[in-house]
Amino acid sequence: MVLGDLGSSLQDALEKVAGRSRIDEEAVEEVVRDIQRALLQADVDVSLVNDLSDSIRERALNEEPPAGTSAREHVLRIVYEEMVAVVGDATEFELEEQTILLAGLQGSGKTTTSAKMARWFSRKGLRPAIVQTDTFRPGAYEQSKEMADRAEVPFYGDPDSEDPVGIAREGMAEFEDRDVVIVDTAGRHALEDELVAEIEDIESVVDPDMSLLVLDASIGQSAGEQADAFDEAVGVDGVVITKLDGTAKGGGALTAVDQTDSSIAFIGTGEEVSDVERFDPDGFISRLLG
Ligand code: GDP
Repeated sequence: MVLGDLGSSLQDALEKVAGRSRIDEEAVEEVVRDIQRALLQADVDVSLVNDLSDSIRERALNEEPPAGTSAREHVLRIVYEEMVAVVGDATEFELEEQTILLAGLQGSGKTTTSAKMARWFSRKGLRPAIVQTDTFRPGAYEQSKEMADRAEVPFYGDPDSEDPVGIAREGMAEFEDRDVVIVDTAGRHALEDELVAEIEDIESVVDPDMSLLVLDASIGQSAGEQADAFDEAVGVDGVVITKLDGTAKGGGALTAVDQTDSSIAFIGTGEEVSDVERFDPDGFISRLLG
């Protein structure tokens, strides 16, 4: 952990603790209040903020700081550890043959993410391909094809079909010899039964090794509900946060990983196929608290 890296609001809060010789309740309360403010502004779920606050409060007051540790360092370490306990490390990917299913609402960034991830795997020396099963959104086929071209990876879709499950089946057969098959799915504007049923059907045909939930960084308090629904439908193994190049801090992803007991795989930082990074917990925590 780089101490100087944590968010500015937390830094300010910790300044208040810094001068004190012992950690009293009032000082801890000030830090907790500032953390709560920052996390709520970053769209982290209220009950998760409360849980985190309780743990930080408890530990800061009850744990003896290791010898030679200042009050500031002690509280900072606890805050960091509690955040890491929720957010965890980046989702692990084996660099071997696998099928990955992308799920999420319309506009969350699935199609863009499929091309970005395909490019990422191909730079790791694997041979990826994309299957586009979105028959719902007009233009999805064209967009996906163009993104796949830009990522220089093969692509399968059928602009004339209205049968996403059929496309999934054909796509899997088409790419039997590829190392990594990324299956993009249709979203909807909201969680609808039809969407959930469709993705369940695709999942059973594709039998993915991993299902990733793609979330727009600006998703707020509805992240938990979405995460639950997709988790129940296909089992969420990891989360991708898109549009972190904008002003949103992506706190909804924290709720999603907490509720699905998963982790964050990638972050999207722009519209180009190269605008993708593996998740870095330190940077993300710092952004949430900043
Ligand atoms: P889908 O409906 O879930 O497949 O979403 P798309 O992949 O079509 O993305 C919706 C819009 O968000 C498009 O205009 C994308 O260019 C844009 N987009 C996706 N990911 C990112 C990102 O990481 N940053 C920015 N700035 N835009 C993104």
